[in-house]
Amino acid sequence: MDQTIKSSMVNLLNYVKENVSFYNKILQNIDVDNSVESVYEALPYMTKAMMRDSGEHINQSINETNAELVVKLTGGTTGEPWNITKTQGESTSYFCMLWKSRLQFGIKPGDHFYQFGGYGDIDGEYTTQQVIVVTPYTELSMFHLNNEVLDRYIELIQQGNGNWFFANPSALYILALRMKDRGIKGIGKIKYVELTGERVYDYQEELIKEVFNCPVSIMYGSREITTISHRCKYGSHHILPHLYIETIDNEEKVIDYQNDKQLGEVVITSFIDKYMPFIKYKTGDYAVIQRKDDCPCGRKGLVFEQLLGRVPAYAEVDGNKINMEITYYLMEKFNRTYGSGIRQFQAIFKKPNIFRFRIVVESPDICEMVCQFYDKELKAVIPNIKVEVEFVDIIERSKRKLNPFIIED
Ligand SMILES: [Zn+2]
Repeated sequence: MDQTIKSSMVNLLNYVKENVSFYNKILQNIDVDNSVESVYEALPYMTKAMMRDSGEHINQSINETNAELVVKLTGGTTGEPWNITKTQGESTSYFCMLWKSRLQFGIKPGDHFYQFGGYGDIDGEYTTQQVIVVTPYTELSMFHLNNEVLDRYIELIQQGNGNWFFANPSALYILALRMKDRGIKGIGKIKYVELTGERVYDYQEELIKEVFNCPVSIMYGSREITTISHRCKYGSHHILPHLYIETIDNEEKVIDYQNDKQLGEVVITSFIDKYMPFIKYKTGDYAVIQRKDDCPCGRKGLVFEQLLGRVPAYAEVDGNKINMEITYYLMEKFNRTYGSGIRQFQAIFKKPNIFRFRIVVESPDICEMVCQFYDKELKAVIPNIKVEVEFVDIIERSKRKLNPFIIED
């Protein structure tokens, strides 16, 4: 740990020792100030499963001050929902860090941008529209990707005010292929593309760069931590300075990145979160990290040399490509509408048009409701779909993590 990290770590650990009951117990008689590195080392690695059902990770003193809270539901990568809570201030701090880095690409906070989505909660209303315009962004559905719809998106971007694109690489690649077919090079006012949310393949980035004819960067974040890293215009994928990161092997042994280039699971400690602290949090994502102190952009510290994010999956029905994240939105909508209910899910797409869900529910009373809900919601987006639901007691995780999406022939 360098000096700045060390002092941030001392502050954080002293803070959680005072205010968060989980750490209050562990750190009770421990002097954090004098041996912060060994105190940190001895702390347990946290997982989603360990934190999810425990009130011990919530800072009750902030709870009592009626701070304005931002709640996000996670579950996309594992199929297990979890409410992530931050104060408004914490949430803003994360984006400030990211924007400091984004400014070098000539865009500003508040600029209109485009992103993929298309099924979800927009200002409290659920919608399945193909194009949703909200301030400051326009959302394009990734659940109706066919040539006719892609051409509509192209026209919209050509005429629109958005000057950058914040996109899942897999969905943007499908749009980029259509643009290439039509001989488009550069579009509308777009001057920057940021790829996020899943693994970025070189072939995707190359095509996107070619047809959008502008700089392309990568932002890695997670629903739990929000923003984690951003690639600068010199190509270094810098880890943002509000975090301490290490990578560990399958035995939870820290990888000595200076001497060992093996992939490890990314473990994060955030110096921002005080409401729900993330300390030695296992992200489930794998990376190779390295130190880089000579980037021309001026940022020093750790960079990702290699980063394996989640691999997206697409179902195809009647020529429409449908990003399988739709199943995550379904779970989110159900749990938001009915308070809670679905604890875990797995979605299997069986060609040509069957969605088969495996679902763990909190109570068998809601099974009928879940079946009707999934059938109705999916048919609203994909008319010619068959929906099957199987209720199970548990969905086993694989060694790395559960992949909630499976495509079968
Ligand atoms: Zn840099």
